[in-house]
Amino acid sequence: MTKIAHYINGEMVEPVSHRYLDNLDPATGEAYSLVPDGDERDVERAVEAAEKAFPAWSRTPAAQRSAVLLRIADLIEANLERLARAECVDTGKPLRLARSLDIPRAASNFRFFATAILHFHSESHATDHRAINYTLRRPRGIAGLISPWNLPLYLLTWKIAPALATGNTAVAKPSEITPMTAFLLSEICREASLPPGVLNIVHGQGANVGAAITRHPKIGTISFTGGTKTGAEIARSAAPLFKKVALELGGKNPNIIFADARLEEVLPTSLRSSFDNQGQICLSGSRIFVEESAYEGFVERFVSEASRLKVGDPLEPDTDQGALISRAQFDKVMQYISLAREEGGTIRCGGVPADAVSVGERCKGGFFVQPTVITDLKVESRVNREEIFGPVVTITPFKDEEEVVAYANGTDYGLAASLWTENLPRAHRLAERIASGTIWINCWMLRDLRVPFGGMKSSGVGREGGEEALRFFTEPKNVCIQFPPDAPKG
Ligand code: NDP
Repeated sequence: MTKIAHYINGEMVEPVSHRYLDNLDPATGEAYSLVPDGDERDVERAVEAAEKAFPAWSRTPAAQRSAVLLRIADLIEANLERLARAECVDTGKPLRLARSLDIPRAASNFRFFATAILHFHSESHATDHRAINYTLRRPRGIAGLISPWNLPLYLLTWKIAPALATGNTAVAKPSEITPMTAFLLSEICREASLPPGVLNIVHGQGANVGAAITRHPKIGTISFTGGTKTGAEIARSAAPLFKKVALELGGKNPNIIFADARLEEVLPTSLRSSFDNQGQICLSGSRIFVEESAYEGFVERFVSEASRLKVGDPLEPDTDQGALISRAQFDKVMQYISLAREEGGTIRCGGVPADAVSVGERCKGGFFVQPTVITDLKVESRVNREEIFGPVVTITPFKDEEEVVAYANGTDYGLAASLWTENLPRAHRLAERIASGTIWINCWMLRDLRVPFGGMKSSGVGREGGEEALRFFTEPKNVCIQFPPDAPKG
């Protein structure tokens, strides 16, 4: 059984405690590797290494930092198949998805920020005829980077790449239930000759390793992606230490379909936004709203397509939907399906675990749930307001723009929304009024790494992506130079 190691000071090391946790394959429900059950002593070693590495790395010319990060991107691409398989086994997601989305995006994250840093600029302000101000942007020091299990390498590298590109050093923690690709990334960083201590990866549970990172006085910057409840805990522990914190949290995203939308485009994309990665994407469009005149027709076709999705062994090439991440997530999803029944919902398809025949003998102990479509729920029901994070969507009809804006904004979340219409003025009007960090018009998850990414309300604080990330990981310092008194007044 593979024994995962921490990556500290350029070395693969055992946890101080010598304790390990079982790492399960969610498709079989069985342990297949061991992950360090790290604690604050491991975090302390990682902080020491990051602190030692900071002076040299922060002064390394941008072009040299860029070259190392580009080598990491190349090595991720060269190891695409190995990494995709590891992500598939660790998360239960279809191998096809890991190959086409997770791992290519991890390489893009490094490539994007490795080159962005070469073009990063800072401001200067001429103050009348008296002075010139210029702004220095310096790396902030040691960054704490904490990521969740749904898109493990994709989200972890989305933080590591900008932190390192801007000259910070880092202590990173992947979710302890999906540590494998972070472990493989450690090996890649060694092969790419990333200097020791620049990146340290400490494995273990949130309450131990995560909490030790967020409260460590030498870690002044925290970038966190995960659940809203955990985000609140992190904000509580970081605030008294005046840390700079970015929180990317949960979502309950509306997918709004007007009757004039082109159904042949809406249908396949809505299936993806509902069920890709088993619905475990913060951006999943889990609340579908359809204009009344198109409602019945849409429900019929959507349910028929959803019922045809193949739930099965994630390693098989024709699998559309793999396993949920864990027994706990499986139980949570099934409880929400029961709640939907109690709240008066009609289960139009799914609502049950996948049967053993469809998933096959190898996967009979795995955590599979059929794609589930629910109608007839009140907009204010719990199922329509709370994040489920599974292959479950609700469909609700709406009368007009006014009503659907109220529906869309009727949750505590505000991460992303999709809007389908051929009426451009209407699209602009709604984009303006819907409270979420991203609005996709006639698309979903069309990503450009330059744009600001993040949520409003309980979906988070701060933005990632492009210049937002470069600014987040740097400290602006303004320098004001007064012109000499005898300078010409112009
Ligand atoms: P969690 O909040 O449970 O965990 C996220 C990370 O935080 C994990 O590494 C976890 O460790 C760690 N952690 C847990 N407790 C603490 C703590 N007290 N202090 C510091 N770190 C801690 O989220 P999930 O892993 O369950 O991920 C699912 C959630 O992530 C969903 O709500 C989803 O919407 C959100 N998400 C948001 C995205 C966005 O961009 N807005 C993108 C993707 C997901 P461990 O796993 O070891 O407990």
